[in-house]
Amino acid sequence: MPFLRSDHPAPRLWHSGMLRVIASVFLAAGCAGRTRGTATTPSPVVTDVTDGTPPALMVPVDGVSPRRVPDTFNAVRAGRTHRAIDIVVPRGTAVLAAASGQVYRIRHTGPGGLAVYATDSTRRWMFYYAHLDSFREGLVEGMTLAQGDLIGFVGTTGNAPPDTPHLHFQLMHARFDARWWDGEALDPRAYFVKTGEPR
Ligand SMILES: [Zn+2]
Repeated sequence: MPFLRSDHPAPRLWHSGMLRVIASVFLAAGCAGRTRGTATTPSPVVTDVTDGTPPALMVPVDGVSPRRVPDTFNAVRAGRTHRAIDIVVPRGTAVLAAASGQVYRIRHTGPGGLAVYATDSTRRWMFYYAHLDSFREGLVEGMTLAQGDLIGFVGTTGNAPPDTPHLHFQLMHARFDARWWDGEALDPRAYFVKTGEPR
């Protein structure tokens, strides 16, 4: 049973089929993008994309199982490839850490709106959680996260359609240079093994 913030009660009327339809119909025009950078040319890949395998991940939304995560990685969003997934759920649904690690950056503006970048515990992988309605109380950069720890709540901040609350989630190779937000992205669906469940 998911827990929803008390000030955002929302019935769980949706199901996986509806979720896919909503994701494809209403998100086609926009969605996410990362906080910084307006590069018009492809950025150089500074990490070897064959280097290692991401850790086993929990779906970072309370109550959502791996098989209910829609395939939106290669969708076109505003003329470019999405390279992330969108999980459409009621506003206020808990966003949970996909893996253990550390909060790297917290962002309040930009296309991702309220957004969190977090590393995994090896610091080889970076997770991006965008369009949050709010952060959990006490969330700070540098804090340690265990898999399933609360990060915040699903919303529509940034360029998400106001009537389609969803989590924009991205798995990237971590990099810690000037383009730390721009690591090479992988489709996270291959690594989801657990249903989102608060720790
Ligand atoms: Zn998205």
